[in-house]
Amino acid sequence: MYALNYVKAKSVKEAAEFLAAHPEAKLLAGGMTLLPTLKLRLARPTHLVDIAHLPDLRKIEVKGGKLVIGAGVKHHDVAHSPVVRKAIPALAGLAGEIGDPQVRNQGTIGGSVANNDPAADYPAAVLGLDATVVTTKREIAAEKYFQGLFTTALGEDEIIVRVEFPLPKRAAYSKFHHPASGYAMAGVFIAQTAGGVRVAVTGAGPGVFRWKEAEAALAKGLKPDALEGAMLDASGLNNDMHADREYRANLVRVMAKRALAKLSGKK
Ligand SMILES: Cc1cc2nc3c(=O)[nH]c(=O)nc-3n(C[C@H](O)[C@H](O)[C@H](O)COP(=O)(O)OP(=O)(O)OC[C@H]3O[C@@H](n4cnc5c(N)ncnc54)[C@H](O)[C@@H]3O)c2cc1C
Repeated sequence: MYALNYVKAKSVKEAAEFLAAHPEAKLLAGGMTLLPTLKLRLARPTHLVDIAHLPDLRKIEVKGGKLVIGAGVKHHDVAHSPVVRKAIPALAGLAGEIGDPQVRNQGTIGGSVANNDPAADYPAAVLGLDATVVTTKREIAAEKYFQGLFTTALGEDEIIVRVEFPLPKRAAYSKFHHPASGYAMAGVFIAQTAGGVRVAVTGAGPGVFRWKEAEAALAKGLKPDALEGAMLDASGLNNDMHADREYRANLVRVMAKRALAKLSGKK
């Protein structure tokens, strides 16, 4: 490691002010992504501003028809929260499938959503549930928030404070784990929301995306065989040493069918 400064923020406001005054500083939440990035010299911040302990970022509640999860809530706590399990069981299940116990006990929802790894799980739920990312500056709809590979609408000194998930009628997530890392080779989140059925895909492409053809098929009814004819165009999908794009397209179809089976109570 090289020399850098560590700052333990006393409040979200103080962290935001510090970031504004120090453009080369970086927020530290669970450190599960940031610390390996520093070790590999892929980032060289002047300061790490620790926000993981702030109570304002650790709340989980249902308010105004939404499940509200603070940015500093760890994956383990989302997975085991009775509030999340009751409001959106699929989200608790998703959090419980992230990485391994060490990652789940350190990593936070805010860190994951800020990082926007193309194989991360939360982006599928945030987009699938049409959630809102609330920051120190504004509210950003999921559709506008995710902007492709490790890219989001967040500004340099903007802090995610919480994520607000509208309560769906039903939702389910199915993921094919990468056997080494646990990340999604393909993960599909299906939600029956007030605005219709949404299908969000992670892991298969350069960023989370909605599979519109599957949504159109499911809009006719959430029947177990509704996705039999749905095809996913493989041309924009990832093609790498882990899987080629045609394999990934097929994985997405399989994961979507599994998520649908969970929704219909068949699995
Ligand atoms: C071995 C391993 C396996 C993993 N497997 C999976 C998996 O299966 N699925 C999955 O989804 N993820 C997986 N992850 C990633 C994990 O979920 C991380 O927790 C997550 O990517 C980052 O969260 P963090 O709290 O550790 O953030 P950090 O590493 O502390 O920060 C990540 C980035 O987000 C920024 N940031 C943090 N908090 C905020 C905030 N509130 N507002 C704005 N910016 C912020 C930081 O400055 C940094 O740039 C894995 C990680 C590891 C190491």
